[in-house]
Amino acid sequence: MITAEQKPIREIRDMIAPYKRILVLGCGSCVAECAAGGEKETAMLASALRMAAKMDQEDFDIHEMTLDRQCVNDFILQLDDVIDQYDAVLSLGCGAGVQAVADMYQEIPVIPALNTEFLGQTKDQGYWVENCLGCGDCMLYHFGGICPLARCSKQILNGPCGGSMDGRCEINPEIDCAWQMIIDRLSKFQALERLEKIYPPKDWSKKQGSGPRKIIREDQRK
Ligand code: SF4
Ligand code: SF4
Repeated sequence: MITAEQKPIREIRDMIAPYKRILVLGCGSCVAECAAGGEKETAMLASALRMAAKMDQEDFDIHEMTLDRQCVNDFILQLDDVIDQYDAVLSLGCGAGVQAVADMYQEIPVIPALNTEFLGQTKDQGYWVENCLGCGDCMLYHFGGICPLARCSKQILNGPCGGSMDGRCEINPEIDCAWQMIIDRLSKFQALERLEKIYPPKDWSKKQGSGPRKIIREDQRK
């Protein structure tokens, strides 16, 4: 999933300051899972903004709403009936959601309330960790399901670097050495020979370099 954290309230207040009627718009998907922009967080932020405006005797009209998914047009269309009532949307979607709403309603400012962080996993309650960079050419088969691009501090494809101590990373002892984990897992599958191959430098053109990437599936199009 995509993770995010709420921006400081002062930054949010500065961005919405020019507008009077504001729709605080949550998203019920990834940002709800990471407790940044779901229905609950959206209600809390709207309430905090209303309270701050009242204390400063500012005249704001703040309402809230949460879409199941803010990055899918079929869900964004639910705003058709209400969007005219607002001067701005304060979005608690990830960067993809903010831009999807802005793409649909070009005449209204859509302001990000979150800082979008990374693709990751919920490890425990209140604990999320990055585990994929979305490189466009997944190599997890070769590395036993552990991504060295996301999880090795040096992003080594032909590791380990030699600095690991007691299974911990020499750059950041708070994390496990990704290469120790790769070796341990491949050993369990009797597949260590996958590391006999020399992996060339990553071809990052599959991630970036020629504008936004697209996926077009003709079999899925109407
Ligand atoms: S190899 Fe690429 S796609 Fe696969 S987990 Fe790592 S960054 Fe993600
Ligand atoms: S100690 Fe392990 S995780 Fe850290 S940089 Fe070296 S190989 Fe990568």
